[in-house]
Amino acid sequence: MGECDQIDPEELPFAQRPIVVLGAGIIGCATARQLLMKGFPVVLVAEYLPGDQNIYYASAWAGAAWHAAGGITPDQRYLQAVTHRVLLKMAQDDPESGVSIVNAREYLEQKPAPDSAIWGKTVVSKFREMNPDEYPSNFNCAWAYETLVTDPTRHMPYLGKQVTSLGGRFIRHRVESLQELYGMFPESRVFVNASGWGSKSLTDVRDDSCFPERGQNVFMTTDKCNTLYFRNGKEYTYVIPRPLSKGVVLGGVKQQDNLSPEVDMDIAQDEIARAHRLAPEIVPEHPAADSISHIIGIRPSRKGGFRLDSERKGNRIVLSAYGFGGGGYAFSYGVADAVVKMVETTERENVI
Ligand SMILES: Cc1cc2nc3c(=O)[nH]c(=O)nc-3n(C[C@H](O)[C@H](O)[C@H](O)COP(=O)(O)OP(=O)(O)OC[C@H]3O[C@@H](n4cnc5c(N)ncnc54)[C@H](O)[C@@H]3O)c2cc1C
Repeated sequence: MGECDQIDPEELPFAQRPIVVLGAGIIGCATARQLLMKGFPVVLVAEYLPGDQNIYYASAWAGAAWHAAGGITPDQRYLQAVTHRVLLKMAQDDPESGVSIVNAREYLEQKPAPDSAIWGKTVVSKFREMNPDEYPSNFNCAWAYETLVTDPTRHMPYLGKQVTSLGGRFIRHRVESLQELYGMFPESRVFVNASGWGSKSLTDVRDDSCFPERGQNVFMTTDKCNTLYFRNGKEYTYVIPRPLSKGVVLGGVKQQDNLSPEVDMDIAQDEIARAHRLAPEIVPEHPAADSISHIIGIRPSRKGGFRLDSERKGNRIVLSAYGFGGGGYAFSYGVADAVVKMVETTERENVI
């Protein structure tokens, strides 16, 4: 390139400055995919990338069921609804995505409160209240419906490939601050912080509301992997099918501030016992040892809930999308869609 052809970064049009995404978990990658599909150039910078298996990379370890969260705002419900729409299309069109349509049975100890997960019936298919003779007598009511499960062992590599084939670029690098990231991309104006639990330690974010919440699940191989079971109340127990991996994920447990990478066999046995009580037709009391393996991951949780907002910092826009705790997959593509809209707003404001 001759000297006259050199482009001053300050003169680059908005749509040609790469949008920089910090984090390549489900939130960062889903965001990158949706931005790329709209034509924005995207670079992702992350310590862990699709296909990695570190306990701090939560996206490798999720169940991951689409389950309507209770106690959330209508805007947050919409994020989940968008996610359902995108995942459903993937399940229908693209088995490589690792997304499957499964039956769900949800058992409740008490009649649902108005702000409970009941709103999910506006999104899922085939929702019905079950008859009392269809569920165990220790529950007060139960719902049957169709939902979506995402197998992260397939979905993250799939998403990584999609991002790359759409022109996105991954850079494996750990940054200590957003400032360091700005220095790597002086021409960029829009940065997305999708660093999950990383936002606790980035020196210019230091979000003290973030905390790690350890999860440990049992994976059991079985052909009976088409129905999800869920109860949340006195007990937090689920059986999440993974039809494409021929098994089910048994859980769950949430251990705040516990970072242990070691399998806790007491937890594993308790999860098997609870799953057996919830779904005895799928989970035997004593599964064969060779049908069992263990999953451990650190959920990026946040007191007060996740962040999804836009801030102007000098001549840069920083979009924050982190703190999704146990629901990152169920919110993922809705969050990505919301980030795209925020970027488009910035693009519009840039037009004189
Ligand atoms: C056992 C278990 C079961 C779960 N089940 C479900 C479920 O059924 N349904 C559901 O919706 N969710 C579930 N989840 C939650 C889900 O996994 C998380 O909410 C989701 O993966 C969070 O995604 P994320 O992209 O925000 O974070 P992560 O996947 O943790 O990714 C963070 C990214 O940021 C990068 N990063 C962080 N700091 C830095 C830095 N300083 N420099 C460079 N890179 C950095 C990391 O390397 C990584 O790429 C479960 C989680 C666990 C552990």
